[in-house]
Amino acid sequence: MSAPVSTASTANPADSPVVRRGALLALVRLSRWTAILAVLALLVVGVYTAVRSSLGVQARPDAYRPEVGFAAQPAGRPRPPRVGIVAGHWGYDSGTVCADGLTEQEITLDIARRVKRLLEARKLQVDLLQEFDPRLTGYVADALVSLHVDSCEYINDIATGFKVARSVASYTPEAEDRLVDCLIESYGAATGLGFHENSITPDMTSYHTFSEVAPETPAAIVEVGFLHLDRGFLTGQPDRVARGVADGVACFVESR
Ligand SMILES: [Zn+2]
Repeated sequence: MSAPVSTASTANPADSPVVRRGALLALVRLSRWTAILAVLALLVVGVYTAVRSSLGVQARPDAYRPEVGFAAQPAGRPRPPRVGIVAGHWGYDSGTVCADGLTEQEITLDIARRVKRLLEARKLQVDLLQEFDPRLTGYVADALVSLHVDSCEYINDIATGFKVARSVASYTPEAEDRLVDCLIESYGAATGLGFHENSITPDMTSYHTFSEVAPETPAAIVEVGFLHLDRGFLTGQPDRVARGVADGVACFVESR
């Protein structure tokens, strides 16, 4: 025999019209408050942004984003692009040495100084750096290029031309590839020297400076020529050598 009590105990209280109506009202009230809070939040953000922009405050103007490089500067406060040029071996050792005493370091310093003058004429800020310059630790710039020269020993009859490489463990491979491409194109055009595509060594791709500078600083190393077969050109036409490097740096910096 079933009693009326047992029927009542199996019914779902939520099915009651009164309960359903109460839940609906609670939901309506909740969404009203949510909408009011959202409007208030939008108002606060709007006022905050308006005040910041009226004061000329920019969100991290020097923030680096790998896909686009350094953020654009606020109008009226232009920041000249900054680049570092390392004169290979300068302040450390002589690098490769020719039989008559000419050293790689003499060539790299001479070229680096010319590159600095050319880039400064283009309104870039240039740091002339030594091989193990203390400023290289955490160095932040739009680009860094280190200049070296290949051996003064006779290797073979095709040991002529230049090489360009970036870090094998690049933090910004897209930017560094563009820097490398700019240098290859500009240096080849200015000097007429050939690019040694297949003789890039781990000495170049794991060059110590790559791990010293700030990871977001695009960096490359250039072997500007072979000191044996290209000596006449490197010492006789240093302005063309420097123009090739400077054009490559400018090509990269101006494309950002
Ligand atoms: Zn060197």
